[in-house]
Amino acid sequence: MADWTKKTILRNEALQKYIYETSAYPKEHEQLKELREATLMNAKKTLEIGVFTGYSLLTTALTLPPDGKVIAIDPDKEAYEVGAPFIKKAGMQHKIEFFPSDAFFVLDDLIKNGEEGSFDFVFVDAYKSDYLKFHELTLKLVKVGGIVAYDNTLWYGSVAQSEKEVVEDLIKRYRNFVVEFNSFIAADPRVESVMNVPVDEAQFLSMLLKIMNAKKTMEIGVFTGYSLLATALALPDDGQITAIDLDIEAYETGLPFIQKAGVEHKINFIQSDAFVVLNDLINGEEKSSFDFIFVDAQKEDYMKFHEKVMELVKTGGIIAYDNTLWLGSVAYKQDEYEKHSEMPESVWRNRDYVIQFNSFLASNPQIESSLLSIGDGLTLCRRLY
Ligand code: SAH
Ligand code: CA
Repeated sequence: MADWTKKTILRNEALQKYIYETSAYPKEHEQLKELREATLMNAKKTLEIGVFTGYSLLTTALTLPPDGKVIAIDPDKEAYEVGAPFIKKAGMQHKIEFFPSDAFFVLDDLIKNGEEGSFDFVFVDAYKSDYLKFHELTLKLVKVGGIVAYDNTLWYGSVAQSEKEVVEDLIKRYRNFVVEFNSFIAADPRVESVMNVPVDEAQFLSMLLKIMNAKKTMEIGVFTGYSLLATALALPDDGQITAIDLDIEAYETGLPFIQKAGVEHKINFIQSDAFVVLNDLINGEEKSSFDFIFVDAQKEDYMKFHEKVMELVKTGGIIAYDNTLWLGSVAYKQDEYEKHSEMPESVWRNRDYVIQFNSFLASNPQIESSLLSIGDGLTLCRRLY
């Protein structure tokens, strides 16, 4: 899936690739790698729009676990019946529910029947002129962190050619739809999905925790637990992490890898709104007791989080805020939005919170701070008093 974030000021692709390949990946802990991959894909419930004779459908069905499921939709029943015997022979028919119908009806029904946000993976391979319309529906059906794959998005290479250069009729007919679709996706803030800190940032955090001799830490915003596992691996055997997230399903995706790495005993996962937990800890006996706190939840709440976590981190302890460069957008001037039209409106809007927060930290006498341009920006704050 296209990722417009690669085009921002923060992400020089060549440099990023160099850092990942020469320094980060070779030393990535095996379970971190597995967790990263599982975050991307661990599909059970999938959807395929555009089946034809069922080649990709059979491939999907074979890949899924025994209790996996594919809802397959194509109005062309005859084509499906050509492939059906092979699906049967492979023993895969129990995973497939085929709808010989216009996909828009089926998708609408699925949404009406409460299946929103329940699919792990959606494969779209129908008419390219419908991709934009499909996108609105598939985004409703796929869960947060799930994947929607659109096939043929290079449209025989014609997307890289000018309209005039394309001669073949069929290719010409759909080229503009695909070009339009690609640029829409590239700018769609809903499809960024990979929320985990990147490998090099996790390595940095890990080293920081070790240098600090951190023992008691907290993580606000866990998702599938990549940064959490990196932290747990870095802490000594009697280290403790209070990990808070509203989303327990995401945490459970990563949990098997945390267990396999043998570090689950260091983690106390709390499914809750973080503010509730922070207030409880403040009212309990936990004031000024944390060595390290990693904040990676809603950016508009960072200011409010700061007030709370400053009470919980000990003097000399570190609070780390993630995403403080907000895809590089903080560096753009207020009147420059037009120049960066590839940037989604919502990112642009949230930019204000991050800018405000950064200047707040910079002028706050109670902390020493350092804004690192690693990952999406990481601000370290050391509590002075
Ligand atoms: N730190 C993780 C990624 C976290 S993504 C990593 O790098 O691997 C952000 C997470 O913050 C999401 O899972 C979201 O559910 C959680 N979140 C957002 N607001 C929250 C809140 N108020 N309380 C608890 N969790 C919150
Ligand atoms: Ca983050």
